Parts: sequence; C-alpha cells; structure tokens
Amino acid sequence: MKIKICGIVYEIILEDSPHYDQWGNINHQKCVITLDGKAQKQCRDATFIHEVIHGILVHTGDIGEHDETLVRRIANGLFQAGITMESFNLEE
Ligand SMILES: [Zn+2]
Repeated sequence: MKIKICGIVYEIILEDSPHYDQWGNINHQKCVITLDGKAQKQCRDATFIHEVIHGILVHTGDIGEHDETLVRRIANGLFQAGITMESFNLEE
C-alpha cells in the first residue's frame, strides 16, 4: 500500500514490532511508514493517522522535533471523529 503525503509517495509496510508499545514509525528519508502487524486494527488506524501528521509537518517545512503531544492530540481527535486508514486515498 502507498499514500501520498504532500505529493510524496510513502510506502506502507506492516511488520511485527519488537516493542509492545511502539505501533508505528515514519521514515522520511526512505519514505516508508511502518505499522505493527500485530497491533489491533483500531490501534493501527490511530497510529497511521499519527504518522501521516508527522509526514505533513515535515513536508510543510517542520523538519525538527515535533510537538509529540500536539501530534497525538490531533491524531486521536481525528480517529475519534471516525477517520481510519480507509478514509485516506491509499494506492496499491
Ligand atoms: Zn509521533
């Protein structure tokens, strides 16, 4: 699966995380979003939104450390509003 973030194509990879509390990651150099394949769908959805927000911030010029609390608040708010991975225009 792939998603465009600000026009940049990111590959989405499902991979079992070795850390029970880390469900996702975004690598801006490789343009890859990794999601924990073992996580429940609802956790994966919320994590995906979180990582996409990081991507939006980077590709709109915020390349330093992000305000993690703010990212978490926005992501969880969108998830609570019903946004899931299926809400995005994902490509195969
Ligand atoms: Zn984060």
